[in-house]
Amino acid sequence: MSNFYTENVLAVRHWNDTLFSFRTTRNPGLRFRSGEFVMIGLMQDNGRPLLRAYSIASPNYDPELEFYSIKVPDGPLTSRLQHLQPGDEIVVGRKPTGTLVLDNLENGRNLYLLSTGTGIAPFASLIRDPEIYGRYDRVVLTHGCRFVSELAYGEQLVQSVLEDEFLGEDARAKLLYYPTVTREPFRNTGRLTHLMESGKLYADLGLDPLSAEEDRAMICGSEHMLADLKALLLAAGFTEGNNAEAGQFVVEKAFVEK
Ligand SMILES: Cc1cc2nc3c(=O)[nH]c(=O)nc-3n(C[C@H](O)[C@H](O)[C@H](O)COP(=O)(O)OP(=O)(O)OC[C@H]3O[C@@H](n4cnc5c(N)ncnc54)[C@H](O)[C@@H]3O)c2cc1C
Repeated sequence: MSNFYTENVLAVRHWNDTLFSFRTTRNPGLRFRSGEFVMIGLMQDNGRPLLRAYSIASPNYDPELEFYSIKVPDGPLTSRLQHLQPGDEIVVGRKPTGTLVLDNLENGRNLYLLSTGTGIAPFASLIRDPEIYGRYDRVVLTHGCRFVSELAYGEQLVQSVLEDEFLGEDARAKLLYYPTVTREPFRNTGRLTHLMESGKLYADLGLDPLSAEEDRAMICGSEHMLADLKALLLAAGFTEGNNAEAGQFVVEKAFVEK
């Protein structure tokens, strides 16, 4: 048996020059927990797939799969992947995995989903999973980007969740969205770490300051962003969770620096 499913691309949307998302068919045998990642790729002329890790941006109950992708200039996979058209085939690994899952976190008051760039992808899955609204009073989706155009996928995602026939009522009561931009004017500016250290994030959202006893966090971004936010949470008394033991925060790289 192959280690991969072959799926068909159903739709592709380009959000700006550097970001796109696409939806594919989903083999009914593919099981995953909302927030996990999986290896995906394209077949090469040598008959072997060229693979990269991708967060599954759709929730676990969705009969289709969604992915949100960067376009890396000269990137081996994304220089091809960005040209996907409906009807094209991709390969999807049979073994999703990852740490950004609700099982790895203790229940609590406010759940902070802290993301930069394509690190919003696992949270696109989680904010569409009704379980999250059962576990937390507030779900705070933060998304840091350099430019306003990089927020478009997240803005549209949040809007669709708020208007959703089944999720909308819970989401309107519990989901808070805080996009912030670092390199051009916007209603929120600055890095997430600074916004948390200064307390501006909580003040802007009308929330109490961060508390290790009551609040939980998931982090997904660059290695630098992860290191900064992890240090901030550890200093605030948070303990890290993983697939062996639930904790007060969990972390996953959005990509690997080479
Ligand atoms: C656990 C995990 C989950 C991931 N999920 C996603 C996802 O949902 N969406 C996604 O677009 N990528 C994701 N990635 C990154 C992905 O695996 C590839 O690196 C990316 O698709 C580029 O592939 P490439 O072959 O074109 O270039 P690569 O040779 O893989 O990357 C070249 C360089 O581009 C930069 N880069 C790569 N990916 C990104 C990114 N996402 N944002 C900013 N810079 C980047 C890095 O500096 C990297 O060294 C994930 C990586 C990991 C480890």
